[in-house]
Amino acid sequence: YDDRDGWIWMDGTLVPWREAQVHVLTHALHYASSVFEGERCYGGRIFKGVEHSRRLRRSAELLDMEIPWTVEEIEAAKYEMLKANGWTDAYVRAVAWRGAGDDMGVSARRNPVRLAVAGWEWGNYYGDAKMKGAQLDISKWCRPDPRTIPCEAKAAGLYMICTMSKHAAEAKGCSDALMMDYRGYVAEATGANVFFVKDGAVHTPLPDCFLNGLTRQTVIGLLREKGIAVHERHISPTEMAGFEQCWLTGTAAEVTPVARIGDFRFEVGALAQEMVRSYEALVRA
Ligand code: PMP
Repeated sequence: YDDRDGWIWMDGTLVPWREAQVHVLTHALHYASSVFEGERCYGGRIFKGVEHSRRLRRSAELLDMEIPWTVEEIEAAKYEMLKANGWTDAYVRAVAWRGAGDDMGVSARRNPVRLAVAGWEWGNYYGDAKMKGAQLDISKWCRPDPRTIPCEAKAAGLYMICTMSKHAAEAKGCSDALMMDYRGYVAEATGANVFFVKDGAVHTPLPDCFLNGLTRQTVIGLLREKGIAVHERHISPTEMAGFEQCWLTGTAAEVTPVARIGDFRFEVGALAQEMVRSYEALVRA
């Protein structure tokens, strides 16, 4: 995605898309010292932009990195990038990483922390799944124990198993994979959180070892406003046999109904469809 027209904000200035490059001895490339955000701009306004910028800075802190830009400066960078590209509706990708330093090695305290803000026009993350429901594989990889990784960080290193899971899913004709956690409970998809419906109530995994998505929190708020009970709890994979509906939430995924996870089937039911619409209305409000 490097050879096209457009502008990317990099370390304080807008640079032509093709020139937004880094050196091969960039620390992040070798040791995964990188954190990022995925956001969506709707009609000229980034939904929960400030919350995303705060999470970016927090993710960096968890990796012992301090981003040399304030939340306000990061906000300004996003809108500057959007304006330069002429976009009012786009996906926004901010990424902060340890650059190349005076020497090379695991320790990177003196390597500069760099920041770039890019974007692109991105429609439905799962194609036509909003109508038909997405097909998910079950990954062989598990979300790790929080004692082994900073699970609250949206950090590049935590996506290694996501890419591997997604490739395995795509090879089976699925559009994503559901991952269990290190204890065997249902965790999340490779870039989205998961919700289930049974007997009019909603059940969603407790985010104690994976990202508590901003979309997840928004959707829980919408459900509670509607008077629908939401149970955040540990969910065993076998329980999926008794769930009637399922959907994924994420900035890119928005609310996407799920038709199948492995051999478990779900209907694209009324509540799933209502949540697709409610979320859409909220982000454009
Ligand atoms: N989990 C993972 C692994 C993700 O990459 C994302 C997308 N950022 C989410 C959950 C959902 O997070 P959010 O709703 O904040 O986009």
